[in-house]
Order: sequence, then C-alpha cells, then structure tokens
Amino acid sequence: DTVYLNGSFMPSAQATIPVLDRGFIFGDGIYEVIPVYSSQPFRLQEHLSRLVHSLDAVRIRNPLDFSGWQAMITRLIQENRAWKDQSVYLQVTRGVAPRDQAFPVPDVEPTVFAMSMPLSTPSAELVASGVSAITALDIRWQRCNIKAISLLANVLLRQEAVDHGVAETLMLRDGWLTEGSSSNVFIVHEGTLLAPPKDQHMLPGITYDVILELAEYHAIPLRIGAVSEAQLRHADEIWLTSSTKEILAVVSLDGKAVHDGRPGPVFRRMYALYQDFKNQVMRPR
Ligand code: PMP
Repeated sequence: DTVYLNGSFMPSAQATIPVLDRGFIFGDGIYEVIPVYSSQPFRLQEHLSRLVHSLDAVRIRNPLDFSGWQAMITRLIQENRAWKDQSVYLQVTRGVAPRDQAFPVPDVEPTVFAMSMPLSTPSAELVASGVSAITALDIRWQRCNIKAISLLANVLLRQEAVDHGVAETLMLRDGWLTEGSSSNVFIVHEGTLLAPPKDQHMLPGITYDVILELAEYHAIPLRIGAVSEAQLRHADEIWLTSSTKEILAVVSLDGKAVHDGRPGPVFRRMYALYQDFKNQVMRPR
C-alpha cells in the first residue's frame, strides 16, 4: 500500500520517521479519519475543518491549505484504488526536536503522515443483531473535543471491551454519559432521540452531525442535552455512531438487555435514512 509522508508518496514499508518525532516521544499531534466510498471522501469539508480546529487547539501550524489536503487525499485514494471503500487516516505531529516538553524554538516543520486502509462497514447481520457494550468511568482528560493522537486512556478503555468480549466501552463522567472509546453515543427514550451536547468531554463526531441533520430533516423528535447514567440504563435504544461503524445498535449493556434486546424502530429508521443519504451524496459521477 502507498502512504504519504512529508510531501512524498511511498510504499508503507519505506515510510520512516526520526525517533525524536514529538508524536513518538509525547503523543504530541492530532489526527483525522475520513471514510471513502467508491473513491469519494464522505464529508471531506467537515473532516478537514475539524482537523483545522484540532491543529489550532494544540497550536500546531496547519501544514497544508484546503486544496493541498484535498489533492493529497485524492492521490492517496487513487494510489489505493484496489480497495473499493477506504478509510483515510491523516496525522500531523509537532515535528522532530530535542526532547523538551515546551514547543521547539525555533519552530520546526510539522510531520505529516497519511495512509489508507480498507473500510468494511458493519455487515447486514451486525446491523440486524446489534452489539454489546460495557460502561466504565471516563478516565480521559478535559479536552476530548480535540482529536489528539495521545489515546492511552481510549486504548485501555477499548481493551476493557475486548476483555469482556463486547464491541465498545461507553464512558460515564460524574454520572453523565460522554461517548464511546471510539464512537459517539445516542439514546432513544419514548421515541425521542437524546444526544449528549458537544463540549470538551466528547469528540464532535462528523457522523453525530449527520444523525442530527437527518433527525431534524425527517422530524424525528430530538433533544440535545446531558444524558444521565440512569437515562442510559433505562433507554429504549442505545446507538453508537462513527465514520467507520456508521450506526450500530447496542442491545446489551453491562450484560443486561437494552429494552427487548433487539435494535429498535428508531434505530432501523435512522439506519435506512443514513444509507439513503450516503448513497445520494456518493452517487457515482
Ligand atoms: N468519539 C471518539 C472518541 C472517536 O474516536 C470517534 C471516532 N473518530 C468518534 C467519537 C466518532 O467520530 P466520527 O463520527 O467523526 O468518526
């Protein structure tokens, strides 16, 4: 497979970075993941604008402008076109410098890396059956709205899910639902969709925004507001959303069935709306 590193395209085996890269030493960098359907990036503008927000938040200079990012991503997709659907990963670190936590003086060039991976959206069986999840305390920092590469807490939380043989860990902070280790979470209560508000305790998901737009457009009752642990445990439906998972129903939480233990009617409706929307936007040109 072909990857991009600091201005050049090359086979992944040839892409190497210096050991003093601050991404390696401190986890000092940000990333982005963009789903690509039939060679077309989905919601590119939104993903790149979140990338800019992440860079600004950690004060790393944006190494490329919008058209620079777009051209690089287009070429990367072309180079890997053997995969029908792809997931493009972008990473920018603060660059290479002697080890010191403070920013390098003078400024150094950010390290820019991008790769593509095959994207396999959840199977029809998984969509129909739903997945299981566990809950855990949200042990992350207070800037979860930044898509930072320092993901140690997420790694440990996701491994807890694997250790329990379930798909995802849903996080609770001070008794409130934040999100999953790599997904946003929605619940449904008596037909109303409840979404935790975008704040510093969750990543503003691109898929989250698509779900809100679809709910508004199709007049599905929606309330954005903090979701308590009790609301989560008594929800009629729980959903996970992310660029690579799209939407999945959680049918078991901490070993207890969610409602009747099957994906609910609001989920099934939203899943269909999401697929329709995706197919409309991604219609081959
Ligand atoms: N929250 C976290 C912690 C994530 O890692 C992800 C996946 N990138 C999401 C939410 C979902 O975001 P998106 O819909 O943009 O993929």
